[in-house]
Amino acid sequence: MTAASAPVVTRFAPSPTGFLHIGGARTALFNWLWARHTGGKFLLRIEDTDRARSTQPAIEAILDGMRWLGLDWDGDEIYQFARASRHAEVAFDLLERGHAYKCFATAEELAEMREQQRAAKLPMRYDGRWRNRDPKEAPEGAPFVVRLKAETEGETTIRDLVQGDVTVRNSELDDMVLLRSDGTPTYMLAVVVDDHDMGITHVIRGDDHLNNAFRQLGIIRAMNWPEPIYGHVPLIHGDDGQKLSKRHGALAVDAYRDEMGILPEALNNYLLRIGWGHGDEELIDRDRAIEIFDVSGIGRSPGRTDRKKLENVNGHYIRAADDRRLTDLTAPFVAQKIGRDMTATDINLLHRSIEFLKPRAKDLLELAEGATFLFRTRPLDMEERALALLEGQGAQLLAAVTTALSSVEWTNEALDAAVRGVAEEAGVGLGKVAQPLRAALTGRTTSPGIFDVLLLLGREESLARLSDQLATAN
Ligand code: GLU
Repeated sequence: MTAASAPVVTRFAPSPTGFLHIGGARTALFNWLWARHTGGKFLLRIEDTDRARSTQPAIEAILDGMRWLGLDWDGDEIYQFARASRHAEVAFDLLERGHAYKCFATAEELAEMREQQRAAKLPMRYDGRWRNRDPKEAPEGAPFVVRLKAETEGETTIRDLVQGDVTVRNSELDDMVLLRSDGTPTYMLAVVVDDHDMGITHVIRGDDHLNNAFRQLGIIRAMNWPEPIYGHVPLIHGDDGQKLSKRHGALAVDAYRDEMGILPEALNNYLLRIGWGHGDEELIDRDRAIEIFDVSGIGRSPGRTDRKKLENVNGHYIRAADDRRLTDLTAPFVAQKIGRDMTATDINLLHRSIEFLKPRAKDLLELAEGATFLFRTRPLDMEERALALLEGQGAQLLAAVTTALSSVEWTNEALDAAVRGVAEEAGVGLGKVAQPLRAALTGRTTSPGIFDVLLLLGREESLARLSDQLATAN
């Protein structure tokens, strides 16, 4: 049976040694989409075999990030370390069938071997010294590792969905260790056994694993297992084409959520478009992505981050998002900005204001920033540019508009008529009156429409803020 004829099973196999990186999230997304597109399964395997570097907080961060992105996995996540005895079982099976052998070389011997190779400018690889030797020649009870008896002749070709055909001469691959002398499996063995036992048909992962694939195939073939289809995806690069690093901006998925105010659907859309495309479609929501995603559409050259694109995509999803949801997502950012918790009344007010704020915002922080004027306590702390609008003619117009507003009904029409009246009387455009009015009401030079601001703040609060500024001006 070839893997191609079986239903698709993909997996994401992160090592929990740190936060969920956006590169990892994109790999997970590709796997998730391919499974959903084909009606197959998407599995999650936590590769926690490196006991020194794997941590529980990293596991939580990965699961949390995946859930936030909506990359739901089928069944329970698999923990690799828990399967160590199964990995060892496969190593001993290979040993029994002559596809692996015990190597009793000591650390000193191996160091010496490498030293000689280095001196002779030869590639450094295990020289197979125990490959054909009788284990009985080893000292009684001596520690050993189990090595794969790799093919030495011919070549191995991988038909990679992304990279195309990639060929390596088998003589370049040495007899790698499968089981260490303490009986623990190597990463290379664990990956292969787990992929097999989980029924993985498609291994889609970073192209930093392409070299591993040739070695892993050696184990797969020795076990006579079906070979998965590989897709090795180029890593994400920064906007300057260099390897992605901290200086290109946030790398952790949770920073996009907690520090940048990005919506998960926007991050998914953005990550999908890095290195994968469908014509010039930029805005591709989840359903559309499931419909059109194809692994072979992943480009061979590294995709780049693009801050502007992220902002545009995020702005789009903010405008499309439900106001209630945006309120809940924005409230913590507002609380942070105003330095106190939001009360139920605050939340209601925020909810009413979202529709006026969201056309302009490219992230939740901007949404929060636009809303904070509602919750600031009087007298407002004023931006310098806002204060400048309250000088000279601004002060006169502010006085006039305050008088006009204090005697009108608090409806859009009446407010509109009153402000227009002041502008006409003074022989200036509406904007000239709106500027100092906005400055006095919000402490800022930008805000939602001025009548929306008046209505959201209400009569009492609006008039009080206006008189605060009049008092200062006098
Ligand atoms: N655990 C590996 C990593 O985080 C991935 C292994 C694989 O996908 O085969 O890089």
